[in-house]
This record gives sequence, C-alpha cells and structure tokens, in this order.
Amino acid sequence: MTPLENVLDRLEKVRRGRPGQWSARCPAHDDKGPSLSVRETPDGAVLLHCFGGCETADVVAAMGLQMTDLFPPRDIPANAPKKIANLLTASQALELLASESLFVAVALTNYLRGITLTPADTERLRLAAGRIGLLNDQTGRTHA
Ligand SMILES: [Zn+2]
Repeated sequence: MTPLENVLDRLEKVRRGRPGQWSARCPAHDDKGPSLSVRETPDGAVLLHCFGGCETADVVAAMGLQMTDLFPPRDIPANAPKKIANLLTASQALELLASESLFVAVALTNYLRGITLTPADTERLRLAAGRIGLLNDQTGRTHA
C-alpha cells in the first residue's frame, strides 16, 4: 500500500480532482465540506492541506497515522546516482523540496518538544536533509 492509498483509505468524502489531487473531509475538525486537500508528490509522498486551518500534524494524528506514514519507505540504494533534480521539472523539484522541508520542520518541532525521534524518523530525517542539500545544490547550479 502506498502512502497515498493509506491516507485516502482513512478519509471520508474522498473526491478526485486534477491528476494527483484529491479532496476529502478533514478528520481534525468538524468539517462540513471537503476542506482537506491531498496531493501526491512525484516520489510518492503525500502532501496534506486543510483549508479550515488545521495543522498537518493534527490531521495526520486524527487519521491515526504518523508523519512518517506520509512518506514512502526509503528505497534508494546508497550508490544510486544523485541526480534527483535533473529528473524533475522545476515545479516538481519545488514540491519535493516543500515536502522534505515539512518533514524536517515537523521532526524538529517534535525534537524541541522533547519527543524522542524513532530510529526510522532519524533515518528519514537524514534522507530528507540529503535531498534538500542535493536539490539546493543542483537547482542552484542550473541557474548559475
Ligand atoms: Zn481541518
């Protein structure tokens, strides 16, 4: 099951929008209409946005999931060519950057609240940091 299937499975009033986009009832507040926007990034991560103003972490918790459930399991071999940005369009790179940044921000917030990161979180954080570095590096070079 992909992170997207896992998320959609737990939501009500799921409606398909444009390709890669869904709307659903937000589980974190008393949502009359579908206020929750669900998107899938090119590498299979799920982006959530509640137009009612809920924090993503609260929406995730209301589904009974953890932030790490929004991201596909790490499957990139250590020796894979590190050319992520070259395979993406500018907007895809930006979206990936946004999802990785979100993960880092949430992990950091947990850490600052004194919540211990699991080894899986730590590993995922390491991957996110690496991807952000690569994207910065490669997109920077493209425009230089
Ligand atoms: Zn909400």
